[in-house]
Amino acid sequence: MFLKGRTAIVTGSTSGIGLAYARAFAGAGATVVINGFGEAGAIAAIRAELAAASGADAYHDPADMTRGEEVAALVAQAAARTGRVDIVVNNAGIQHVSPIEDFPPEKWDAVIAINLSSAFHVMRAAVPHMKMAGWGRIISTASAHSLVASPNKAAYVAAKHGLVGLSKTVALETAAHGVTVNCISPGYVWTPLVENQILDTMRARGLTREQVIDDVLLAAQPTKKFVTPEQVAALGLFLCRYEAASITGANLSVDGGWTAA
Ligand code: NAD
Repeated sequence: MFLKGRTAIVTGSTSGIGLAYARAFAGAGATVVINGFGEAGAIAAIRAELAAASGADAYHDPADMTRGEEVAALVAQAAARTGRVDIVVNNAGIQHVSPIEDFPPEKWDAVIAINLSSAFHVMRAAVPHMKMAGWGRIISTASAHSLVASPNKAAYVAAKHGLVGLSKTVALETAAHGVTVNCISPGYVWTPLVENQILDTMRARGLTREQVIDDVLLAAQPTKKFVTPEQVAALGLFLCRYEAASITGANLSVDGGWTAA
């Protein structure tokens, strides 16, 4: 329970990797603020599960990550409710798969807003609280696509490369204040985001479901296994420990060897 008394905000945590982060922080005793879309009953069940695990409160904030003012308000609300902002995970993300010449400009804008600009708004609002407390952890879920590209993912690859640059910059600005800022870059993790991508890639490349999984997704991953959300979240939890206090400005891969190739 080493996070007892601390507040952790995880954007995009009603599903997938974000939910695994929320569970990991709650398991360590933190008050968790979850965010993201979903059915009211399912969100209430997640809140109850997290509160039972932590022995502390768990809130849901419905802020839309495409709207900068809602993102900033999410951080302000968490501070008002709990009196602190110790840990933030920029995790909300969407994907769109399309060749550049057909890439809809509104999809470009949405991917950049949710996967990159929301992290800017979260950091801008959270850093003053962390500097004041002399302690903070900022973690962003980047991707193997922050290091290498794949065809048909122009906006996603641009956003994830940008997220690493943003994190390195804020790491330098906060290094003397007890705040660390890092990216975690998973390979393919079996979540609803990947499930949707399978359908898009089947359409875009005229492939079967099995061909997309074996020849497109896991082809890049030498372990030939999907990463699990819990493996990603476990590294995030480690970054909150005292032993990780010297890790800042890093982009840590959890990608089954993908970017070693
Ligand atoms: P997911 O689809 O399971 O979850 C995405 C979450 O973001 C959901 O809670 C959803 O409600 C929320 N969200 C989406 N749009 C939002 C918006 N406008 N405002 C607020 N919340 C919004 O996806 P996931 O696979 O768990 O992805 C989480 C993160 O991990 C993303 O940043 C993604 O790019 C990254 N990632 C995923 C993989 C993978 O293989 N799944 C690999 C590398 C990186």
